[in-house]
Amino acid sequence: MIKPSEFIHPEDAAALRQLESIPGFPALAKKVLELGYEKLKYGINMASTIRLSENQLPELYRHLPPICERLGIKEPEFYLEMNPFPNAYTSGDTRVFIVVTSGLVEMMDDEELDAVIAHECGHILCRHVVYNMVAQYLKMGLDALGILGAIAKPVEYALLYWSRKAELSCDRCGSIVTSPEVVARTMGRLAGGPKSITNKLNMQEWAKQADQYDEIRNDGLWNKTLQLAVIIGQDHPFSAVRVREILKWGQSLQYKNLKQNLKAESSGKRCHKCKRSVCLDWGYCKHCGAKL
Ligand SMILES: [Zn+2]
Ligand SMILES: [Zn+2]
Repeated sequence: MIKPSEFIHPEDAAALRQLESIPGFPALAKKVLELGYEKLKYGINMASTIRLSENQLPELYRHLPPICERLGIKEPEFYLEMNPFPNAYTSGDTRVFIVVTSGLVEMMDDEELDAVIAHECGHILCRHVVYNMVAQYLKMGLDALGILGAIAKPVEYALLYWSRKAELSCDRCGSIVTSPEVVARTMGRLAGGPKSITNKLNMQEWAKQADQYDEIRNDGLWNKTLQLAVIIGQDHPFSAVRVREILKWGQSLQYKNLKQNLKAESSGKRCHKCKRSVCLDWGYCKHCGAKL
């Protein structure tokens, strides 16, 4: 069982606070749901994709249950969309479902697919899904009823800003189930590379491009404005930034502790003194120092 506070990206937490402080935003999110957008999405999905199960493409389906168990979330419904473009997304509030495209399945190996599915489960674990739906609603230009009126654009931008930061948290979730290196590899794949090329990608060099991007971006007001104009309408951060952030987190104490705790939890062994989970290969309890 993992708590979002154990891995949430600080910029995600800050953006979320900002978003929720917009007057009327929580009420607005509720309104979008009441309009039946969730049901609309669910219905369209049910009619146009394939639901995966033990009886339907079980090899693909079986990726999901162990990841949910590991993260301690209730298993969502799982669908395959016939679409050559590699993509995955999560939708719904009362009935949450994950969709992966055939293009994604075709392109990824098992580990990479796990990383992507765990990323999507991260959206569920962090309770991102409702706000993501509001963002999609706005992006589709569905505000025909005009419930947002003049605040539509500022809310949309605040949502997209948060959404980009939320992706970073979910990349972390993907790396908890797999590893930061696998998550970085999926970025390479999603940026359009076949395995024959992306397996040879130098990730550290790619991550450096994010630093160079920051340098360009921070070079004077004019450049900043231009870069902002490019990114403001996007719901995902640039790939190089995601690669840099996930590799950096992989080196952090927070990540190492989290992985160690998970390993201890799966060992089934407990410390006789403090009763917390311990790894089989520990000579001493790392929580209380007792000899094991
Ligand atoms: Zn995501
Ligand atoms: Zn102990």
